[in-house]
Amino acid sequence: MPGESTTIDGFRKGYEEEHRLIGRRSACGFVTATWGLVCPRCGKRDLAEVELSGRGRIAAITVQTVPGDEFVNDAPYAYVLVDLAEGGRISGWIAGTAPGEGPAIGDLVQFVPSYRPGVQFRRGDDRDAGR
Ligand SMILES: [Zn+2]
Repeated sequence: MPGESTTIDGFRKGYEEEHRLIGRRSACGFVTATWGLVCPRCGKRDLAEVELSGRGRIAAITVQTVPGDEFVNDAPYAYVLVDLAEGGRISGWIAGTAPGEGPAIGDLVQFVPSYRPGVQFRRGDDRDAGR
């Protein structure tokens, strides 16, 4: 729904409750997955909501073997920074990351619509599954 993420709470609600990944795009072409009103590239207050595909590549990764309570059944899991296909970078996590089995920097990932906290990804790409 365009306009729903005009507040930071609406932005968070997008992925945590509506299970969509929302970005913001400026007329200059800049895209961010971080909530904001002013484009950090051109300085205009023209960031408008854009639906993101949720596809991206891992830019950085940290494996967590000692989880917080919310992730106790998912450890070890990977905390990842993802460069999104449309532009922008977002932090998230990937469940069930056994040591030595990746994921690795550069791997394709896909946003997982989920009731879980934070922004969940899985390895691979929806296009792989023929959807
Ligand atoms: Zn701009």
